[in-house]
Amino acid sequence: MTAEPPVGPPSGLERPRFAGPDTFARLPRLDEVGRAGVAVLGVPFDSGVSYRPGARFGPAAVRAGSKLLRPYHPYLDVHPWDVHQVADAGDLAVNPFDLVAAIEQVERGAREVLEVAGALVTVGGDHTIALPLLRVLAQRHGPVALVHFDAHLDTWDTYFGAPYTHGTPFRRAVEEGLLDLGTSAHVGIRGPLYSAADLTADRELGFAVVSTVDVARRGVDACIDQVRERVGGRPVYVSIDIDVLDPAHAPGTGTPEPGGLTTRELQMILRGFDGLDIVGADVVEVAPAYDHAELTTIAAANVVYELLGLLALRAGRR
Ligand code: MN
Ligand code: MN
Repeated sequence: MTAEPPVGPPSGLERPRFAGPDTFARLPRLDEVGRAGVAVLGVPFDSGVSYRPGARFGPAAVRAGSKLLRPYHPYLDVHPWDVHQVADAGDLAVNPFDLVAAIEQVERGAREVLEVAGALVTVGGDHTIALPLLRVLAQRHGPVALVHFDAHLDTWDTYFGAPYTHGTPFRRAVEEGLLDLGTSAHVGIRGPLYSAADLTADRELGFAVVSTVDVARRGVDACIDQVRERVGGRPVYVSIDIDVLDPAHAPGTGTPEPGGLTTRELQMILRGFDGLDIVGADVVEVAPAYDHAELTTIAAANVVYELLGLLALRAGRR
C-alpha cells in the first residue's frame, strides 16, 4: 500500500496567496488531514512576560506573515511540505490568569497533538511555554540538547519571587533534568545584565554562550561549527526567541535589545544545522502591536520555514 501524498496549500498561481485559508502558509488544518509529520501549533499566551505584553497575538500574526512562503527552499534544496504532511494544529486554549495551569495546559496540549504528529514547531506566545514543551520532548527522547536563540539567557531563578516566567524556563528545565547539559548553547546573547554573576551562574548550569559579537567577529560558519560540535548526534530542541534579531529586523517583541543578529544571519545559522537530530522547535516572543510593516511577523514566519525545511530533510533521511 502506498501512502497518500501530502496535502499542500492551494497553488499561489491559482488562488491569490492573500485569499486564505487562514492557516500557517495556507497549509491544511491538522483535523482536515488527520496525521502529520510536522504540526505547526500556536500558543497564544503572554502572562509570563516581564516587560511589554502582547505575544498572545503572536500566532495569528505569524500566520498572517506566512502567506508569501513558497513551496521550494532553494538553499536547503527541499520542498518542506512535500516530503511529509505538514499541517496547522491551530491554537491551544491556555489560561491567561493562572501560569501554573497554563503550563500544564501547554504540556497536555502538546502531548495530544504529538499523538497524531511526528514533531511540533510551536509559535508563541512568550518564552514560558518552552518549559512544558521541553517536558514533553524529554519524556519521549530523554534529556535533549537545547540550542537557544535569544538576546537573553532565560536562566534567571525568579522574578518577584515567581519561578515560572519568560525569563526562567531554562533554569527550571535544568532543575527538572530535561536538558543534556554540556551540549546546550545560547546563541545571540547580548545586552545589559543584572550582574556578572548572571553569566557565571549560567555557565555553572552547563550552557555555552555564542554572543552576537562572536557571530560578528568569528563569522556565521565558525558559530555553526561550535554549536554542531557541542550538540553532536544528540536529540536537539531549537528554541528561538525572536528578540535574537536586532530590533531593526524584528521590532515587534517584548524586550528588545540593540545589537542583534540580522534575519539573514539567523537564516544562515539555521541552514547550517542540517544533519542535526532536531526533534522539535519553537519561535516565541512575537508581539505584533510593536511591529512595523510586518517586519517581525514575516521574519518569524520565515524562521518557521527554515525549521520546516530542516525537519523535512531529517524526515527524508529516515
Ligand atoms: Mn529574549
Ligand atoms: Mn526568551
